[in-house]
Amino acid sequence: MALTDDIKQSIQQGYRDVLAGKDIRARYGQRLMIAEIAKYMGDITENDGQRTSPAAACVVEAGTGTGKTLAYLIAAIPVAKALGKTLVISTATVALQDQIVLKDLPDLKKHSKMDFNWTLAKGRGRYLCMSRLEARLHDEGNTDSDTMPLFLLDGPKNEEPGTRAFFEEMLASYGSREWDGDRDHWPEQIPDDVWRQVTTDHRQCTNRHCSYFDSCAFFDARKDLDDADIVVANHDLVLADLALGGGAILPEPENALYIFDEAHHLPDKALNHFAASLPLNATRQWLKQLSQALVKMQPYLAAGTQAAKSLDRISSASREVDLVLNRVYEEAEQNTGWEFNEERRTAQWRYPEGELPEAMADLSAESRIATANMVRQLGVLADELQGAFDERKEHEIDRETAEAWYPVIGSFHARAEDQLRLWTAWCEQGNAKPASESETDSEAGEEKESRPPVQKSPPPARWAVRQRWDHAEDITLYSSPVLADNLLYSRLWSRAYGAVLTSATLTALGRFDRLNARAGLPQGSRFLVVPSSFRYGEMATVEVPAMSAMPTDDGFADELVKRLPDLWAGEKATLVLFTSRRQMQQVRDALAPDYPELIITQDDMAKGEVLRQHCSRVDEGRPSVLFGVASFAEGIDLPGKYLHHVVITRLPFSVPDDPIEASLAEWVTQRGGNPFMEITVPDASIKLVQAVGRLLRTEQDTGRVTILDRRIIARRYGQLLLDALPPFRRIIER
Ligand code: SF4
Repeated sequence: MALTDDIKQSIQQGYRDVLAGKDIRARYGQRLMIAEIAKYMGDITENDGQRTSPAAACVVEAGTGTGKTLAYLIAAIPVAKALGKTLVISTATVALQDQIVLKDLPDLKKHSKMDFNWTLAKGRGRYLCMSRLEARLHDEGNTDSDTMPLFLLDGPKNEEPGTRAFFEEMLASYGSREWDGDRDHWPEQIPDDVWRQVTTDHRQCTNRHCSYFDSCAFFDARKDLDDADIVVANHDLVLADLALGGGAILPEPENALYIFDEAHHLPDKALNHFAASLPLNATRQWLKQLSQALVKMQPYLAAGTQAAKSLDRISSASREVDLVLNRVYEEAEQNTGWEFNEERRTAQWRYPEGELPEAMADLSAESRIATANMVRQLGVLADELQGAFDERKEHEIDRETAEAWYPVIGSFHARAEDQLRLWTAWCEQGNAKPASESETDSEAGEEKESRPPVQKSPPPARWAVRQRWDHAEDITLYSSPVLADNLLYSRLWSRAYGAVLTSATLTALGRFDRLNARAGLPQGSRFLVVPSSFRYGEMATVEVPAMSAMPTDDGFADELVKRLPDLWAGEKATLVLFTSRRQMQQVRDALAPDYPELIITQDDMAKGEVLRQHCSRVDEGRPSVLFGVASFAEGIDLPGKYLHHVVITRLPFSVPDDPIEASLAEWVTQRGGNPFMEITVPDASIKLVQAVGRLLRTEQDTGRVTILDRRIIARRYGQLLLDALPPFRRIIER
């Protein structure tokens, strides 16, 4: 749809109004970003609401201080409204989600004449299920009741005293409409094990057949989604929706214009969603629970009925699964070269190139057949129970039995499906496939020219982890795609009406290649790096002091203990970043006695509390030193006086034993590439840029970054890492 004068006018006027209303000046990068997104959306062609132009995404890297949220909202809202599409804004973190919903959208609405409404989308598990709450209350102390089966979903009961009173309070509060059933709106934190008893998932929900359907918290919230111009979600919810086919929770991709903020997280999150795992002994325990549930259910089903026959079939299918899992365990236990890490009490084994040894491949095939049979039989019983909700027909199962047992069987069915996913993934051909044989093959011919620029997919990563506890042991099998490119392409990019990806760190070593390879972006996508408004050379320095030890030397931790006090002396607020928790604690233990009330590590208390204590010390004029690892290198925002010095102890190279990264490295090597230069260094560059990005949060901030890892100047790749940092003034001791 070409941008009409009306839309252009709406965008321009909206921007002018917000600048005037908030008394802020236009930023060059922000204007560029607005223009780029508007132009991208204007280039999408359509016919009767269906996109006709090839799939394409718009990728904008915009650093801190660009004002990117305002930029994409101003550009996208008028276009989405004119098209009648829903704008789906997806973030990786709750903090950004809250900022958009509680601050950015209300601000834009207040200061511009744009007319729009919005809602926050959450998964079903964030809402109260009245059916389960009612059953929970009804059944306490009443072990023979009809809804007793629901307890089977909760596992062993280990209740806090007072939980019943708590559930009654919930009921009263929901009944009087003081509370809307949203877990996040309850005045206090609800512990996970309590909440799990009163929420549900799509497999256990009886939907329209539920007697609480008309007053259901989840479906009420779901109605708001249908009417909203803007839906704010998170990457996990978008991916979960896509895994269900798209359109189950959120608008269908064809009717959505997506904005992925913090988009650099999307490929890894996609890998998580399409990974599978199966703990062998825990699954055998679960099979015992299943058979106990079936025994309990039997008296409710008349002999000779279809449901009773299904019950028998599930019993025998689950026995077969148990037998084959036992053999898988023995095979994995005896014929795998486990090497225990005594400290972690685990051992790991990755199957090179994803290839299983013959005996394991045969057992996987048997497991898949047996598990598929169990899934099928559970599905048949779930369908029969669901059928009993239909009051227009006669049924062999009475409604009370169906209401009581459907969630239980639904839950067992869902868990069995998860197990089947692992076996299916373990039975897939392990060899690399050309993209033409992959999922994208089913796409329409016209999409071919916009396919991701990936020729071959690496085989899935397959590995096993063996864990020991004091009196037990288990082996868990894993499978994960190594790249999410084809998955994201086929499920998201090829279907979406449009998609914008933005973040402060989308390039690695100055290029978008890494993102492209991992996210499978369509070939027609456009890419922009928005110049920053920060005067980096005047605002900060990056310093590499002389050190007598390299991070790979034994004496490095001692050197840190010696050097750090000089580095934080005279500073009010310092952040010291480590790449390993063990080293962070070692250095803290050595220094804390001499510097009481100075160091706070991120493990000392919850993150919010760590930051609050740090800021309050700074407010009181006392110095404060924060010690953190990876999550502090990316996820904290300490503007102005709250952070003046970032110390990076070691370059953030990823852990070499991560099985997905190792599989990717293996694949790159096989193709004649250099995994260190193609994967490890670009990954480290992104993490380093993020860590350095903690320092300057506003145009007024100043400070310094000190890098204690001399490899940044001593190694050839070090120059690449240094050049990818913002252009701070450099002070390097030779
Ligand atoms: S409709 Fe589903 S989620 Fe809502 S109360 Fe009923 S079972 Fe629970």
